[in-house]
Amino acid sequence: MYVGIDIGATHTRVALAVVPNNIVQKKDFATTSFRETIARIVESIRLLAPEKIEAIGISSPAPLNKVQGTILNTPNLPNWKDKPLVDMLKQELHCPVYLEHDASAGALAEFLYGQKSANPLLYLTLSTGIGGGLIKEGQIYEGTNSIHLGHQVIDKKGPKCSCGKNGCLEAFVSGWAIEKKFGKPAQEIDDPAVWDEVGENLAVGINNSVMHYLPELIVLGGGLIQKGDLLLKPLQKHLEQYFCQDIPLPSIELARLGQDSSLIGALAIAWKKYNNK
Ligand SMILES: [Zn+2]
Repeated sequence: MYVGIDIGATHTRVALAVVPNNIVQKKDFATTSFRETIARIVESIRLLAPEKIEAIGISSPAPLNKVQGTILNTPNLPNWKDKPLVDMLKQELHCPVYLEHDASAGALAEFLYGQKSANPLLYLTLSTGIGGGLIKEGQIYEGTNSIHLGHQVIDKKGPKCSCGKNGCLEAFVSGWAIEKKFGKPAQEIDDPAVWDEVGENLAVGINNSVMHYLPELIVLGGGLIQKGDLLLKPLQKHLEQYFCQDIPLPSIELARLGQDSSLIGALAIAWKKYNNK
């Protein structure tokens, strides 16, 4: 049995599976303080999986210290900084525990269970924040840390971002940035002019990312893709406008695993690491 844990800013989900893309049981609860959430995770795992657990994979907001098994300075989980996340779960549950950036976990799941031939595959989550993951030759691309597509600067005089800089992609197209600028949650906005502006800014960010990573395929996930053509049509229009003529525009597809991408990714990481895949 493998366990996947997806830690989000508001919710934490725990899932149990024998093979990663076939979840047999799942639990969902509010993310609160570090100690309280760890206690809920341990309680849920003991309840869901009284038998032996081979390995646990965790998907978490970045940045992370994967060597120490800790979450660093993420604005969405301020009280979790440097807490011994991996060590505490190892002590309580006596099995290997692997920590991964949530967008990388989502990218891996979309690659393994959706788009297995794409190389490289670039995955963007368009949600409360903006995240990204790159799968190259079937593996999560590892630099000195996780890639941070949301914090690429697209306008140095742009609005303040959650990271403290000005003009990041996230400060223009994330759920929090849209709500801040237009006065209501993105899901409630249907004005095409708003989505044209969001689509244009997103096109600049995607254009930059493609110039760096040259992906064969871009997969878009996260809650904002539920806006459908209201966002996707202007995005496509502006991508064609901004794109370098010498490089073919990669295909853009929507995430096939929906809200479960990172959770299935966490299970896939546990399975892959445990089996040396
Ligand atoms: Zn930023």
